[in-house]
Amino acid sequence: MKSENQRLWAPWRDKYITQDIKNNKECVFCRMLKQKKDKQNFIVMRGEACFAVLNLYPYNNGHLLIMPIRHVSELEKMTPAEKKELFGLVERFKLILDEVLEPAGYNIGINLGHVAGAGVPGHLHVHIVPRWCGDVNFMPVITGTKVISQSLITLHKMLSDAYQRRNRK
Ligand SMILES: [Zn+2]
Repeated sequence: MKSENQRLWAPWRDKYITQDIKNNKECVFCRMLKQKKDKQNFIVMRGEACFAVLNLYPYNNGHLLIMPIRHVSELEKMTPAEKKELFGLVERFKLILDEVLEPAGYNIGINLGHVAGAGVPGHLHVHIVPRWCGDVNFMPVITGTKVISQSLITLHKMLSDAYQRRNRK
């Protein structure tokens, strides 16, 4: 029998993103970057080479995606500057989530390829999933889209504000 932990963590399949890709030939991440509607798209910040966005269908509260702005599919295709900024942002947002949501732990990872559960295999992204004891109850509870979008709006503001505060220091 699968443990609750495995069920939440693996596989990383993201049905909404897969469907979105089918409906729109353009990459979902590149499209949201072009739109310049960061609030509506839940983009928390844009850096020089990378950006952070809330996962619209989170596996847990605070589920963030950090990725290069450039459409790049493989780690080895990233420039040193992109790699540096990417990992710097992973660290920074881990600290921000510590401050804002105080989780007990994290799953941080990258899915490379469809077989590994990548919803958007063409545009590499790092998942940051905060974890709490007993958080397996999150998904059955948050099944309504309305509940998700409301919590995302609140969370987007909390994380953007925390990011701005840190940047000012
Ligand atoms: Zn892309």
